[in-house]
Amino acid sequence: MIPIKKYSQEIVHRSTITNCMSSNKPIYSPNYYKEPGPKLDKESPFESMMERFRFAAEILKLDEGMFEYLANPVKQVIVSIPVVMDNGSIKVFEGYRVIHDNVLGPSKGGIRYSPDVNIDEVKALASWMTWKCAVVNVPFGGAKGGVRCNPKELSIGELERLTRRYTANLLEIFGPDRDIPAPDMNTNEQVMAWIMDTYSMRSQKTETAVVTGKPIILGGSQGRKEATGRGVVTCTLAGLNKIGLMPNKSTVVVQGFGNVGSVSAELMYEQGAKVIAVSDISGGYLNKEGLNIPEMIQYSKENNNSLEGYPDAEKISNDDLLELECDVLIPAAKEDQIGKHNAHKIKAKIISEGANGPVTANADSILDQKGIMVIPDILANAGGVTVSYFEWVQDRQGYFWTEERVNRRLNRMMRSAFDNLYNVSEEYNITLRQAAYVYAINKVATTLKMRGIYA
Ligand code: GLU
Repeated sequence: MIPIKKYSQEIVHRSTITNCMSSNKPIYSPNYYKEPGPKLDKESPFESMMERFRFAAEILKLDEGMFEYLANPVKQVIVSIPVVMDNGSIKVFEGYRVIHDNVLGPSKGGIRYSPDVNIDEVKALASWMTWKCAVVNVPFGGAKGGVRCNPKELSIGELERLTRRYTANLLEIFGPDRDIPAPDMNTNEQVMAWIMDTYSMRSQKTETAVVTGKPIILGGSQGRKEATGRGVVTCTLAGLNKIGLMPNKSTVVVQGFGNVGSVSAELMYEQGAKVIAVSDISGGYLNKEGLNIPEMIQYSKENNNSLEGYPDAEKISNDDLLELECDVLIPAAKEDQIGKHNAHKIKAKIISEGANGPVTANADSILDQKGIMVIPDILANAGGVTVSYFEWVQDRQGYFWTEERVNRRLNRMMRSAFDNLYNVSEEYNITLRQAAYVYAINKVATTLKMRGIYA
C-alpha cells in the first residue's frame, strides 16, 4: 500500500479576490507546502481537496507547471447582489461563481444558497466538480456557485429577485457552451427556472440548456431529481458485491433525509436492505428491526420536511448515528462529518459519500487502516451531474428520453465508472478515493497536454 503522505496545513494564500472578474491568479504551488507539520483536525474543504490532489499528483509525477495549472481555478468571481426586500429596504448579498476548469468542456456545477457559504468552500466544490465529471466521463469541466444568504428568512419574491440579479451579474460567465449551473444545497428547480428565464430574456431566445435540474415542463430531464441518490445506490450495490454481501442481507445507516439521503434510503430499502437509522436536521431515528422508509418519507412530507416526532423509532444523536454498527453508512448531509475525532469509531464496512466532502482528508488513512471501503463523493454522488449531462444533451437535441432510458444509461455509466476506479485502485494498490483522483487528474492533464497552452 502506498502510504498516505502527511502535509502540514501551512499553505500560503497569495490570491487576492477582487470584486470583479479575476482570472488565472495562481494560489497553490507545490513549493508552498512545508512538511512535516502538525495536522489540524478541522480542515477547510479546499485543504481536504488539496491533500488528496497532492497525493495523486505525486503518483502521476505531475510536473510543477501542470500541478499549478490544475490546482488553481481558471476564474473566480465575486458579485454584490442588491435586492429590494419586501419592506422596501435594500439588502446586499454576496455571490460567488468559481470556474475551476474547462479543459474537458463547458464548466458544470451547482449553486448553493447558505448563510455560511464562502469562496474557499466554493473553490473546493468547483474542483470536485472537475474531478467528478472526469470520473464519470461526462464532457464537462468543473464549477460551483453560491450566494451567502439564509433562504429560510427570504420570501419567495425576495428569493426570485436575488436569483435574477445574481444571474444578471453573471451573464458573461453562464451559457450552454460556457458554464452551466444546476441545483445544490438550498436551491431547486424553481431557482433553475428563474436563472433560465433571466438568461433567456437577456439573449432574446429561450435557452433551456443554460441550466440543468429544471422543471420537466421547462426542458428538465426525467429522473434528474432522484439521480444523485440513484447513483449512490448503484455504487453501494457494486461495493457490497465486491465485499461479498447481498443487499438484502445488509444493514444501512443514512445521514441526511433531503433529496439525496431519502432517495438513497428508499432505493436501498427497495433492494431489501434493512435501513436501521436515518437522520435529518431534527436528529437521528433508530430502529434495529428496520425502518419503514416509504412511510418516513410520507411522514416528513406531511410534517414540513421534518421527521420530528416520528413514532416508530428511537431518537438518537447525529454523532451516535454515524458510529452505529452497520454494513453501509451513507453520509448524505454536509461536509466534514467524519474527521479525526470520530473516524476510529466508525463501524460500517462501506461508506458511500452521498454528500460532497463528508469525510475530511485527515480521516482517510484512519478509515483505510480499519479496512473500510470508502466510495468517494466524486464517484458516489456523480449521478446528479451525469443526468445533468443527459438533460443538457436532450435540451440541445430538443428530443426527450423516457425515465426508463435515463435510469438505464445512468446505471450503466455509474457502474462502469465504479469498475474502472476499482481496477485503478487494484493496479496501484491505493484506495478508491485515491484512484478517483489519479484517474481524473490524469484525464484532465492528458487532455490539457494535447490541447496545449494558448498563448
Ligand atoms: N450540485 C450537484 C453536484 O454537486 C450537481 C451538479 C450538476 O448537476 O451540475 O454534483
